[in-house]
Amino acid sequence: MASPVAFLNGEYVPLEEAKVGIMTHALHYGTGVFEGLRGNWNEEAGKTYIFKLQEHYERMLRGCKMLWIDLPYSVEELCRITVEVVERSGYQEDLYIRPVAYKSEEKVANLNLRSLADGFFCLAVPFGSYLDSSGAISCCVASYRRIDDTMVPPRFKLSGLYLNSILAKTDALAAGFDEAIMLNMDGHVCEGTGENIFLVHGDTIATPTIESNVLPGITRATVIDLAQDELGLRVEQRPVDRSELYTADEVFLTGTAAHIQGVGSVDHRPVGDGEIGAITRRLQDLYFPIVQGRNPAYIHQCWSATPKVTAS
Ligand code: PMP
Repeated sequence: MASPVAFLNGEYVPLEEAKVGIMTHALHYGTGVFEGLRGNWNEEAGKTYIFKLQEHYERMLRGCKMLWIDLPYSVEELCRITVEVVERSGYQEDLYIRPVAYKSEEKVANLNLRSLADGFFCLAVPFGSYLDSSGAISCCVASYRRIDDTMVPPRFKLSGLYLNSILAKTDALAAGFDEAIMLNMDGHVCEGTGENIFLVHGDTIATPTIESNVLPGITRATVIDLAQDELGLRVEQRPVDRSELYTADEVFLTGTAAHIQGVGSVDHRPVGDGEIGAITRRLQDLYFPIVQGRNPAYIHQCWSATPKVTAS
């Protein structure tokens, strides 16, 4: 039986006992940096595989530097803590893993990051599909623009930054779409609210550059490598125009939560024939076994956790 455990303030505690106070700085101002990881349950191996765990924490620590958060843990230690949370929690199913580094000081009306204490927690919860669609999804172009690097840098997963995504996503869902595609302040295509974006034109794949104000996605980097190395396709990282969304052969979104998600329409216009495209499918077929620890050539990119099962 699973018994969810969180790591908080240096200790492993039952998830229901892991609480923070109402004066916590991060709760008021979004002064946190988080990661979103998946624990992929592999029944035959009896293990949960966590893909590119180290890369997630390297990104989190870059965000910590931005927010003057100084954690007493190395990347290696953070990886080990995460594996331990998963093992102690005992789940034998797919998980979402959420580490958060944050300003834990219980002090109101203080906007100086450098005077505030830091905290870190990590938890894991059961998690199925994120975009909740077995086929291609419908997207709109959001009226909210992606925040610029000169405002709050979107290259880090800063907690407060996600209000930008949340406003766009909420409006998209209310309008009947599955997801929003955000443009940056220049009017170029940026990313989904929680995913990077790729467009296929013939045998070339285009994706916005990091300087377009996208999050440097771990899945984005993986897909670029797979497209080039395994499929021999050309991948261009360049500014992408909005009109390209309406004429691409295929559009797909990538993210740890979303995996590789085909887009069937943008602003009601069908992408290709409106179904998941052939290149998107080939990338999905390559990607899933890799993140589930089923492809020996990529197993070194996964950390594994063996859940400790307690008697019910
Ligand atoms: N963009 C945004 C805004 C995101 O929140 C995410 C999810 N972390 C991504 C892209 C995809 O990043 P990754 O592949 O590292 O999950």
